[in-house]
Amino acid sequence: MIVVGAGAFGGWSALYLLRQGYKVTLIDAWGAGNSRSSSGDETRVIRSTYGANEIYFDFNVRALTLWKENERLFNKKLFYNTGVLWFCYEGQTPLVDDSLPYATKHKMEYERLTRDDLKKRYPIIHTSDLHHAYFDSYGGYLKAREACQAVCEQFIKEGGEFIQAQVEPGGIDHQRLDRIKLSDGRSLQADIYLFACGSWLGKIFPDILQQVITCSKQEVFYFGVPAQHAAIFDSLPVWIDVDGKDFYYGIAGNAHRGFKIGVDIRGEVFDPTHGERTYTPDVLTKAREFIVHRFPLLKNAPLTESRVCPYENSPDGNFIFEVHPYASNLLLLGGGSGHGFKHGPALGEMVANTLAGIAIPPAIFRRKL
Ligand SMILES: Cc1cc2nc3c(=O)[nH]c(=O)nc-3n(C[C@H](O)[C@H](O)[C@H](O)COP(=O)(O)OP(=O)(O)OC[C@H]3O[C@@H](n4cnc5c(N)ncnc54)[C@H](O)[C@@H]3O)c2cc1C
Repeated sequence: MIVVGAGAFGGWSALYLLRQGYKVTLIDAWGAGNSRSSSGDETRVIRSTYGANEIYFDFNVRALTLWKENERLFNKKLFYNTGVLWFCYEGQTPLVDDSLPYATKHKMEYERLTRDDLKKRYPIIHTSDLHHAYFDSYGGYLKAREACQAVCEQFIKEGGEFIQAQVEPGGIDHQRLDRIKLSDGRSLQADIYLFACGSWLGKIFPDILQQVITCSKQEVFYFGVPAQHAAIFDSLPVWIDVDGKDFYYGIAGNAHRGFKIGVDIRGEVFDPTHGERTYTPDVLTKAREFIVHRFPLLKNAPLTESRVCPYENSPDGNFIFEVHPYASNLLLLGGGSGHGFKHGPALGEMVANTLAGIAIPPAIFRRKL
């Protein structure tokens, strides 16, 4: 079995396929958690809240269990259980409210905070334009690039083979992918191939995926907090501001790399291989205005780092796990669409269990190609 792509999707799939008894080779052009990949930032949010979508809620609950299990095994802290604070502007916020029954079902209830509660608990947050907040004490953030590296290291430790090379699919013959070609000149063959190449999938299979998986430029910024308030800022939960337009979110502690803010609106079309990773001044201005509004103590906070990461968007935001229409031994996994990282271990487990015939992937991940 060959898995191409050692990001969150491919890395975890390779590890769980190995644990399912397959002989697995994992290949990545630039290495696990590299800075071109979507998984290559410092941190990623983990939260179950997905509005009325129970499949993703349940998937995240499973992922949380597996993150905790595996970090113990890796002997490396990857999950920071800071909680997730949802800022709500109206009496009703469907994205959060519609998830509450699932939280109850899993005995993972959220805490509702009035504006006064919020002000009392987090005096550094400006609250006058908010209606209330919800606190999900089960979520938090994950170390992203380090997690990919840890998964790859564990994969090798458990007997997998890792190769660093760029891969090109070979020919399709009798409904089967015949081989793959490596940038070091080699050709490799396997019974089954899984391509989990994030933003690159559309380019690798242009005839079937070019219109399906599109890549956009997404930006995150890290700001330096004032020294006298640093401990308070770093101990804040992950926060998500659902204003219905720009969907700002942030990871305050962010592994001590600075107060992180992400802007979730889709950016311009981006080339994940050649695109320069420099920020867009307008996006920085908007992000800065927003944090100064929500966290006034950050008025003069300097920008300490910025990251450009590619979103690998599917048309409806759902992940894609599908067999290539012309090759029955070629599987495609991707479409993380800006929210896939947290689900990595649950997706990897699902891929392995599907191949072993003991699970059926959710119908929303299947897409007629
Ligand atoms: C700014 C930003 C913020 C995000 N925030 C969150 C968040 O808070 N929470 C969350 O859960 N998710 C978040 N996401 C989404 C999440 O990061 C992605 O969905 C996830 O990382 C996708 O993983 P992947 O393995 O599919 O892709 P990638 O991580 O991009 O991995 C693909 C891999 O394939 C390799 N590759 C590509 N082509 C080839 C080839 N031809 N040969 C060999 N190797 C190849 C690449 O080197 C790469 O390592 C965010 C994404 C971005 C960009």
